[in-house]
Amino acid sequence: AETQPPSTVTVTVPAPQYETDTVTTRANATFVMLARNSDLEGALSAIRSIQDRFNMRHGYPFVFLNDHEFTDEFKRRMSVLTGFNTHFGVIPKEHWVQPDWIDEKKAEEGRRKLSQMRVKYSGATNCARYRNMCRFNSGFFFRHELLQPYRYYWRIEPNVRFHCDIHEDPFAFVEANKKVYGFTITAKEIKASIPTLWSTVQDFTQKNPQYIAKDNAERFISTNGVTYNGCHFWSNFEIADMDFWRSESYTAFFEHLDRTGGFYYERWGDAPVHSIAAALFLPRDQIHFFEEIGYQHDDWAHCPRDEDMWVRGRCTCDRTRSFDYADGSCTSQWDLATKDT
Ligand code: GDP
Ligand code: MN
Repeated sequence: AETQPPSTVTVTVPAPQYETDTVTTRANATFVMLARNSDLEGALSAIRSIQDRFNMRHGYPFVFLNDHEFTDEFKRRMSVLTGFNTHFGVIPKEHWVQPDWIDEKKAEEGRRKLSQMRVKYSGATNCARYRNMCRFNSGFFFRHELLQPYRYYWRIEPNVRFHCDIHEDPFAFVEANKKVYGFTITAKEIKASIPTLWSTVQDFTQKNPQYIAKDNAERFISTNGVTYNGCHFWSNFEIADMDFWRSESYTAFFEHLDRTGGFYYERWGDAPVHSIAAALFLPRDQIHFFEEIGYQHDDWAHCPRDEDMWVRGRCTCDRTRSFDYADGSCTSQWDLATKDT
């Protein structure tokens, strides 16, 4: 006889008796994942990976955000992995959809132009959605009510993988060392998707020079000190301090960018937006490269370059193929920008 799956799914969130239930030394921090219901399988595999490599020993909470309600199935199956300390939230419309004041004709024209150049994510069907996501991650996720109790977050995406055991708690590290922004992979933005981003940034910094930090990491984003080189921290992985995104400087910066409509008329990503802000408004020693965190996003991985680190982490990645060495990486530019600190 065939075994039928249960016809009704009861959403009771399990409260497993993990040893971490009694851990009291956690930083004020949470994981955060933006996902669709259709991302469930990839989301499970990413969360399984971070649980196994790190969080089973710590028990940090999880926040899942979606522009639609998560299904009972999503919540139930995810909670089996994450335990009781998990929150599922809906994003308010005004934080997600294209605002009314955006000229849709102009936005469409912008999408068509990128599409003709075959730039990734410019396609007619998913383009508006992708732009909503970039704008949300740039200026709104940290305003979500479920994130209000927390200061630090670790952003995780469906389908990512963590390659090494993470022995030192990165949250405790950033808290103890007053780090504000942490990354593992750097990349170069496609210029066609951000034609006026840099001039918009310069307009802001000329009007607001008080926000520029002393000993900043400007050299990471501008090799010649004049133009933007496209370098950014890949924001699908971020361990950062939301007090920075909630600060006066970043709030003014985001509003200045947003007002131009560039998130929709062009295709400004949250990665360059976050990175430019971090590189200009923070002293460079508050930005941290998590070299020891082996991390896979799509076909690209950061793998610890240091042999001892790689062995200690029992890493599953190939050190010789770390994206750090690839042409599209900006990690050598990061090394240049910070070598005199
Ligand atoms: P990429 O990393 O730039 O290639 O973009 P992704 O397709 O990986 O999307 C980035 C993140 O946003 C992932 O966590 C996705 O699950 C999430 N995401 C993208 N589009 C949507 C959407 O329309 N709705 C929701 N809820 N999440 C989305
Ligand atoms: Mn992604």
